[in-house]
Amino acid sequence: MPTICDNLAEVHARIERAAHGARHSPHAISLLTVSKTWPAERLREAWQCGQRAFGENYAHELQSKSAALADLPIEWHFIGHIQSNKTRLISRTAAWVHGIECLRIAERLDRQRENGLPPLNVCVQVNLSGEASKSGVPEEAALGLLQQLSGLPHLRLRGLMTIPAPDLPQDTQQAVFDSLRRLFEQANAQGLNLDTLSMGMSHDLEAAIAAGSTLVRIGTAIFGPRQSS
Ligand SMILES: *Cc1c(COP(=O)(O)O)cnc(C)c1O
Repeated sequence: MPTICDNLAEVHARIERAAHGARHSPHAISLLTVSKTWPAERLREAWQCGQRAFGENYAHELQSKSAALADLPIEWHFIGHIQSNKTRLISRTAAWVHGIECLRIAERLDRQRENGLPPLNVCVQVNLSGEASKSGVPEEAALGLLQQLSGLPHLRLRGLMTIPAPDLPQDTQQAVFDSLRRLFEQANAQGLNLDTLSMGMSHDLEAAIAAGSTLVRIGTAIFGPRQSS
């Protein structure tokens, strides 16, 4: 059985190969380890092999694991759907939030971010899979939302995130990633200064990197298949 350290090394190698193939610098691509459903001890193992950024989808898991691992200066990312009664917890615990879909939630995170903390890094989640996906803002609403968020003082607008609908044919999946990159370029042409394209998971990180991903979110390839969800 390969260890978590072996799996992390293999994922780093995949990122490097994909980056070289696309003529991007592998140093421009960061690895977020997605640890939903896994116990804190597995995260500690990944930390011991050098991994520093972890992504959680559920507020209760973020809460329990950040408490269990309080001795490690982990960079926590919240990547799930954000319920309004969880914004306080998320704004106090996470360094990043990837799934911003509306101004109302962003304003709550902004208001609740504590003054002593650096601004919360945020990405807007865009739905580029149409009817096949419930989450994310529609493409035509994304630039407007980005402009609104750029004025919130305790948030730092970093970029865009997408999750292609599962089981897309490869060329459609590639088209989704390319669309997100074009939107990113449009936003920057409007002066938004984004630096993060959060796209790519275990099965599609190569396609995402070919399209210009700067942050891949990887769970299964590091921890193995999840029992639940
Ligand atoms: C679960 C999840 C991932 C990781 O997916 P894997 O296929 O396990 O790599 C990435 N991003 C989000 C938003 C997720 O929910």
